[in-house]
Amino acid sequence: MILPPATLGMLGGGQLARFFVIAAHEMGYKVVVLDPDKNSPAGMIADKHLCAAYDDAAALNEMAQTCAAVTTEFENVPAATLETLAKSVPVHPTASAVAICQHRVSEKNFLRDNSFPHAPYAEINTEADIPSTDSGLYPGILKVARFGYDGKGQARVKSAEEALAAFRAFKGEQCVLEKMLSLDYEVSVVLARDAAGNVVPFPTVENQHRNGILDVTIAPARGSAEVRDQAQALARGVAERLGYVGTLGVEFFVCGGQLYVNEMAPRPHNSGHYTIDACVTNQFEQQVRAVCGLPLGDARLHSPAVMVNLLGDVWPNGHAPAWNVLFEQRDLKLHLYGKHEARPGRKMGHFTVIGADAAEVHAAAMAARKRIG
Ligand code: ADP
Ligand code: MG
Repeated sequence: MILPPATLGMLGGGQLARFFVIAAHEMGYKVVVLDPDKNSPAGMIADKHLCAAYDDAAALNEMAQTCAAVTTEFENVPAATLETLAKSVPVHPTASAVAICQHRVSEKNFLRDNSFPHAPYAEINTEADIPSTDSGLYPGILKVARFGYDGKGQARVKSAEEALAAFRAFKGEQCVLEKMLSLDYEVSVVLARDAAGNVVPFPTVENQHRNGILDVTIAPARGSAEVRDQAQALARGVAERLGYVGTLGVEFFVCGGQLYVNEMAPRPHNSGHYTIDACVTNQFEQQVRAVCGLPLGDARLHSPAVMVNLLGDVWPNGHAPAWNVLFEQRDLKLHLYGKHEARPGRKMGHFTVIGADAAEVHAAAMAARKRIG
């Protein structure tokens, strides 16, 4: 077990890393953050911010020298970085688990090879692959294999001609073409798994997206208990198959009452932010615990919760909304990430409303959102 006041390494300095730093600090650990952005939300509160590229040899060397364990907040860390660090310090999740989740082709192939239900798809490596793809995949979504997030790097295509145009617009980058499913709704499961294989899942939650970006998370998910239970079982299966250690997010589509795994995030997940205010242990503390070899905490939900993301869009002309409106609502917890620049679509913060009655909590969260525009 790695105990406080040990120093932990975090690759990436966004809001997920910031919440990790907060959790680690509360538990008595120190954190070194590696992020090339000098204003990164986690870098500014870390014990040390290594402001360098993710493959910077000197920075990685310093991290390996000073940290008792290393983890990540995003899937796009070069696998070579994780491998380099792993030679001298425990790294969770491993390079191989991250490599699967960071590449849509290997992610889909992992789902297929392990018989997890998923949307029909085809790998598109070159233009020549497009005419021979199954016409049953249209209408579909062409998704770039790497670096896509929040709906970026995706194009909805109705035909092979449209797929070709979209593939060219993505500059011939490797893609997957996925059949467009008619979604009843979307759910996710965030869980933690330790090195001994113990799995502690948070409840299955319901996710609503706007323009491909998570907008609202409702905890627990409404709808059928069977869907909630199946999602838990599938997420556990995915974590086991990945040999995963740390906090993992698994996204699902619910379609005709059936679950399909959409994608995995080898890190805490936006849909798990409600755990900060509504669960005995939050998803970031679980990451600290898993990485340090501590027993995983109790993930119990204290009460129904609804989380609403605050994107840069609610900063009209770059001016912050009137936060007092939110602070006046006493069952609402506001979290702002300290980002300097508000851009449309950029995740700037979130709030969570908690309370005894799920329907009332939902109504209160929607009303709060309306009040700040
Ligand atoms: P990202 O990495 O940007 O989160 P996703 O693959 O999760 O990418 O896509 C973002 C959102 O787009 C999903 O949450 C869902 O709402 C919608 N979407 C993605 N793929 C499909 C699909 N095959 N059928 C229907 N909707 C989809
Ligand atoms: Mg997604």
